[in-house]
This record gives sequence, structure tokens and C-alpha cells, in this order.
Amino acid sequence: MPKIYLIDVTNRDGVQTAKLGLSKLEKTLINIYLNEMGVFQSEFGFPTTKHETLYLQANLELAEMGVLKPIRLEGWIRAIASDVETAFRLVPNIKHLNLTMSTSRQMIKKKFNSKKKKENIIAEMIKAVEKARALGAETIGVNAEDASRTDPDFLIRFGLAVKEHGADRLRYCDTLGYDDPFTIYEATKALAENIAIPIELHCHGDLAMAVANSVAGAKGVIDGGQDAYINTTINGVGERAGNADLVAVILAITKSKGLAGKYQFANAIDLSQAWKITKFASYAFDVPIPINQPGVGANVFAHASGIHADGVLKDPQNYELYNFTELGRGEPELVETGREICAGQYSGISGFRHVMGQMAITFADASEAREVLELVRYANVEAHKPLVEDELLFIAKYRKIARKLLTLKPLE
Ligand SMILES: [Zn+2]
Repeated sequence: MPKIYLIDVTNRDGVQTAKLGLSKLEKTLINIYLNEMGVFQSEFGFPTTKHETLYLQANLELAEMGVLKPIRLEGWIRAIASDVETAFRLVPNIKHLNLTMSTSRQMIKKKFNSKKKKENIIAEMIKAVEKARALGAETIGVNAEDASRTDPDFLIRFGLAVKEHGADRLRYCDTLGYDDPFTIYEATKALAENIAIPIELHCHGDLAMAVANSVAGAKGVIDGGQDAYINTTINGVGERAGNADLVAVILAITKSKGLAGKYQFANAIDLSQAWKITKFASYAFDVPIPINQPGVGANVFAHASGIHADGVLKDPQNYELYNFTELGRGEPELVETGREICAGQYSGISGFRHVMGQMAITFADASEAREVLELVRYANVEAHKPLVEDELLFIAKYRKIARKLLTLKPLE
């Protein structure tokens, strides 16, 4: 039976979100956490965007060092042959790409102003796919933007054409969150059956159905005989009303009535990383986690009413579908309530040594301590807030990589 894979797009769709952003160090930590969780692939950024270049190269180095392994790092670009060339010029080691092109009637008429016809769309995508392959791409995903408003016959024709020219997957983008679980199931099943290519589900929450649509779409793809790749973001951040929430998607597939035990992930997912990764993303994006967010919200395991409290004390399964320990919750958290020494952009060596010492980090000599301090200062300049422990540990451990991540070169 075909399987489900997760492609997290926090570092692409998430950071594209209006009013939100991440530092390159935060993006890197997210890749590390996704890898620890068992997420198959991270759409880790934009290979044609110059301020991403050093970050992307540094993360590919981490992959070569075995730090970001086995996760796949994939870049997102427009399906234009010259953009493919730019991507490989700026990030020569990139191995995985997703190429994007609008396919819907709306976009053809109102975005391309009818200058681009359906045949041009197919031809341009094929050119981009062939260029990517020629320049060394190992896997190529083809994104049909606004697929849910695309003529279904054209979408099949588009999918067959790109498959014939070497694409590995087709991304069905419900760009506007227009689908419902019933329509997306039918649409993706038909694509899987007619094109016979693995299908990605990229769903948005404009009608509050991003997670439901993702799993219904995945079911459609698998019932159609192909592997399904679900696009997620941590805490559901993403354009407008957001994308499918990573943890909620995992819970839906592993705990829901009709999916649990029947539809499975291709590789092991470590749900116990959920607490850590969602807290970090919340801190990094500076967006609080709603108290009722599935799995990780403050109220998800809270009971007050008499009947529920009594019931859950007798047996948690009376009123809880899953256990908090499965999500990595339940450990007490230490919060400093007295004196605090933080590392910041103007930190000095004594305070810094104290902060690092609390994490049991020692330095070989004074010059090493000063080097790490300098990097931590730069990281603070970019983050505008105190770094978390894992960020400090990362900088101390991978100084060369950190130096690259923290270097933003002006336009050339
Ligand atoms: Zn999107």
C-alpha cells in the first residue's frame, strides 16, 4: 500500500507570511528539529533569493556533515529556466527542487492576462524541469499553483507532460483553501489514477479545513494507488489563514477513526518532539500558541467541569483521545524568577561565560570564548531577542557554519 510522507514548508510558506519572519539561525534550528522529528523533507528556502544563499549553502553543508540527515532539503523556485540556472549558480549543491507555476483559469486570465496559454504553461514547465535535471537536480517536484481552481482535464494533461519529462511528483496546491475534504479526495484520487505519479497536497486554511483537506487529499492519492506527500507548517503558520499544522496532521493520521492504522507514514515520526518544535516556532515567529491548538495548546489536557474531571481521573481515555506524554509534554519547565544574565548583542565576556557555563559549556581558551561570543552577538542582532539554549549550543558547536549563517552580504 502506498505511504504518506511529510514535506514541511515552514521555512518557505511560513516565512512568506505577512508580518512574520525568521532569522537564518532560527530557520536552521527548524530544519534540525524537523529532522529529529522524522519529517521527510524541509522546503528550506528560496535558492534564487540572494539573502538566502549563505543560509542554504550552510544547511547543505550540515547535510553533508550528517547533522541534517536523513531529511531532504529542497528549494522552492518559479518554473522558469533562467531561475533554475540562477538557483544552481547561487547554490550549486542543491539537490532537490520544487518548481511552481499557476495553472488555473483565474490565473491564466487575470494574472497572465491571457498572454500565456495552457500550452505555454506546459512548455515552460517542461523547459524548467529539463533544465533542473540537466544541472543536477536529483528530485523535482512540479507545483500546480491554484490547482483546485484548475480545469481537471488540463491538470491531468499538465501532470502527464511533466511526468514524461522527468518530474518526480506533482504538487496539488489548494492555494486559496477553496477545497473541502470531499472535493479534494475526488480530485487527488483522479490525478493519482490518471497520471500515476506521487502527489503532494498543499492546503490552506481560509475555510478552516487545511488539515482535513490534507488528510482527505492524501487518502484520495493513496486510494488512487500513489504515495502522498503532505505539506505542513509548524503551528500552521503560512500565507493568510495559514497552512496545515504539522502536529495536527500527524495526530489526524495516527489517531483518527478512519485513518489510524490504515494509512501510514513511510518513515517513523517522533511525535514526542511536538512540544519542543512548536514552542520554538512560536518563540521564533513571536506568535503565541492558541490555548486550544491540537496537541500542544495549554488547554488540550486541562479539565475543569465536574463530569470531565471525574471521568479523566478514573481513566484518561474517558475524555482524552491521546496522552500528553506522546507529544513530549509533562516535564516541568524551569522559568527564572530572580536575577537573569542574558546573552545579547552587547554582551561582554564575563556575563557570556556565565550564561554558557550554566549549560555546562566550557571553552578551550579565551580566544575561543571570544569567537563564540562575537557570533552570539551577531545572532542577537538578527534575532532581536534572547537566543534559546539550542541556538547558543549550535553556535558553540558549529562555529564555521554559524559564521556563514550570520553573514548577510549586500546585493552584488
Ligand atoms: Zn501556500
